[in-house]
Amino acid sequence: MSTKVKDNKNVWVYAEQIEGRLTNVALEILGEGYRLSREIGEESKVCAILIGENINHLVDELFAYGADIVYIANDSLLKRYTTDGYTKIISDAIKEYEPEIVLFGATHIGKDLAPRIAARLNTGLTADSTRLDINTQNYIDYLKTHTTADTEDLEKNIEDRNLKQTKPAFGGNLMVTITCPDKRPQMATVRPGVMDKKEKDPAHKGEIINLRIKLSKEDIKTELVEVIKTAKDVISLADAQIICAGGSGLGDDSGVELLKKFAETVGGVVACSRAAVELGWFDHSHMIGQTGTTVKPKIYFACGISGAIQHQVGMQNSDTIIAINSDPDAPIFKIADYCIVEDFKKVIPEIIMQLGNTNI
Ligand code: FAD
Repeated sequence: MSTKVKDNKNVWVYAEQIEGRLTNVALEILGEGYRLSREIGEESKVCAILIGENINHLVDELFAYGADIVYIANDSLLKRYTTDGYTKIISDAIKEYEPEIVLFGATHIGKDLAPRIAARLNTGLTADSTRLDINTQNYIDYLKTHTTADTEDLEKNIEDRNLKQTKPAFGGNLMVTITCPDKRPQMATVRPGVMDKKEKDPAHKGEIINLRIKLSKEDIKTELVEVIKTAKDVISLADAQIICAGGSGLGDDSGVELLKKFAETVGGVVACSRAAVELGWFDHSHMIGQTGTTVKPKIYFACGISGAIQHQVGMQNSDTIIAINSDPDAPIFKIADYCIVEDFKKVIPEIIMQLGNTNI
């Protein structure tokens, strides 16, 4: 397969699980896969591919979040992620069932798996997509109202139902849309935090298909000796409900400590801009933006962050953005819901006091 466009119109998502728990991004791309499959038409189903050992308990959750079919590979050789093992299972399954689209979260594992699978299947892959569309009249109308793109070709080929994969390019200053018209499946990795999960419906059930596992120990060339959890694993920015982010405007170490105290007081997770990483105040794992993590918390506090486009792409989908910046013209204020034009070192201690933490 993979060299010709086939009839099967199903959308597959890789249901990444770690230690028996589905990742957030797996449910996000399942929601997006559901939306795409409904746009493709009645003949299209959204399917999750679930791999591991003792993972059957996750099937109901995948159905509840929209899956019509769950393909499952349950085997002791698949207990932990290995590039060789998982690549073989997914490639074999794609060859057998021939989906139209396959999506992965752009996680460490997704970024490792997707290119190998695409190469094995001789098809294309768009990395780090932030928007996916099917070529429909809705999409063409969106382009006409929101962009200056020429839509003539799209209108001529509206029946092709090809996947339009959009991602930031050239330092985030330009969005590009990529298609894969001649090969199947159409494959993309999708940034965590940018797609919406479908509303959970525990009553929704679907079909389970057990994959034939043609895998032996010899197929897996690496052996996992030990897993050591570092502080990076503990920080879960992508899942945080409240994020307190600081930029170079924190000024010095005392500003960094103040931000940490603030996060502790409001129950938030500390994050930062790239400038704050470059100043040595934070580890890269705290960084938000194009080259960092994408987040969608309920509240995002931006303290002493100017709001460069590369930072915005990582946090602009937050429910509520509260910006504190001494410069009234800072770009962050263009996307903030609440704008506090003031020295961060004056505002934050006041908020901490008002919330009853006098230990500053
Ligand atoms: P600055 O732009 O220096 O802004 C500091 C702000 O603090 C200013 O607005 C100032 O008014 C304010 N301020 C100063 N003192 C105070 C005070 N006492 N109280 C309140 N406010 C104060 N950046 C990212 O963040 N994430 C990325 O993923 C990322 N990827 C990039 C990728 C590429 C290819 C490139 C070229 C750049 C990338 N950048 C990224 C860098 C980005 O362009 C900006 O340089 C960076 O985001 C600026 O960080 P900042 O807002 O902390 O610093």
